[in-house]
Amino acid sequence: MKVARFSHEGTIAFGIVDDDELVVLKGDPMFAGFDPTGDRVPLHVAKLLAPVIPRSKVVAVGKNYRAHASEMGGEAPGEPLLFLKPNTSVIGPGENIILPPQSEQVEHEGELAVIIGRIAKNITAGNALDAVFGYSVANDVTARDLQAKDGQWARAKGFDTFCPLGPVIDTEFDVYGVSIVTRVNGQERQSGSLDDMVHSVADIIAYASSVWTLLPGDVILTGTPAGVGPIVDGDTVEVEIAGLGTLSNPVRRL
Ligand code: MG
Repeated sequence: MKVARFSHEGTIAFGIVDDDELVVLKGDPMFAGFDPTGDRVPLHVAKLLAPVIPRSKVVAVGKNYRAHASEMGGEAPGEPLLFLKPNTSVIGPGENIILPPQSEQVEHEGELAVIIGRIAKNITAGNALDAVFGYSVANDVTARDLQAKDGQWARAKGFDTFCPLGPVIDTEFDVYGVSIVTRVNGQERQSGSLDDMVHSVADIIAYASSVWTLLPGDVILTGTPAGVGPIVDGDTVEVEIAGLGTLSNPVRRL
């Protein structure tokens, strides 16, 4: 099932994607279940929003594809390299990525996003997928120059608009054998397979839950394949995960 969060005629709601329509739900399905109101909204008149606003955190994993770790000048870490992005960095499909004046080198990182659906603490990898509500597409936008300058990543990864998310959450997505592609202005920049992750989704969830209590609505970004590169004012960057959707965002410098 593909779940969207959307606005229509001044109201924000959740809906299940059914061909070219949204089956409107009474509440947030993560907490209220899939309870239809009886209304339907055509997809083309709905404005899709970030499918979840993380209540506490976006957890992210660095260097989780060997080819990307190599292009960054190192090797993939033996344990997941975790960092956090603030929930204020999250934007939805079609919203502008704003280039901050502090950086001259902002880059795209197309990634699979895991949406946590229940409280998880010290969960095992064997049980980790039970905590998943669904999957989505993300762009772990990074100010590469500030990442190097600061020596840690809070600023480089944490600016407002640096976590595009969407267009929907798929509650039945299967990660095996799935391609992930990032394009800038239609030109392919990154191409990989979710199979190439060094640490699996289950391992990442288990590892993260040994550090933090994961809450419903938390999001985990699972790392990016090789091919990261700059985005500049006027670009459009899109991340496509086969079967999950395409997340497209314009890039603007104000
Ligand atoms: Mg990343």
